[in-house]
Amino acid sequence: MTDLFVTSCAHCGTTFTARRSDARYCSPRCRVAALRERRQPAQRRRQPLPEQFTHQTIALDRHAALLEKDAATLLRLIQDDRLTANRSNISATNGSDIQRAIHTLTTQADTLRTVNNALNPPQPSPDTTRQQP
Ligand SMILES: [Zn+2]
Repeated sequence: MTDLFVTSCAHCGTTFTARRSDARYCSPRCRVAALRERRQPAQRRRQPLPEQFTHQTIALDRHAALLEKDAATLLRLIQDDRLTANRSNISATNGSDIQRAIHTLTTQADTLRTVNNALNPPQPSPDTTRQQP
């Protein structure tokens, strides 16, 4: 004996006849589609979060500033000859390492600023557009 159950598809809403009382979908296609939606709810709902977005770009900008400060500090130490004060302890290799570190820091800072500007294009400063009385 085969009972038939009339029910509606949990995915598309179509009314269909099922052989099982617990059937939920009208077709394998709807079953798969519903499963896919259950698996990826976060991706479907993901939307830009302006506040968080702003915080991230500010963090990038600060990080770039810190990197530049590190690079500037290294550069100043070299210019002040403080790093080379104990020349017997600093080999030429160390010197080029420091130069490389400065280059890396400034390059990273540039990259961060580029990313930051791409995410959050700089606005013209109000001071430059304000009319003088
Ligand atoms: Zn369906």
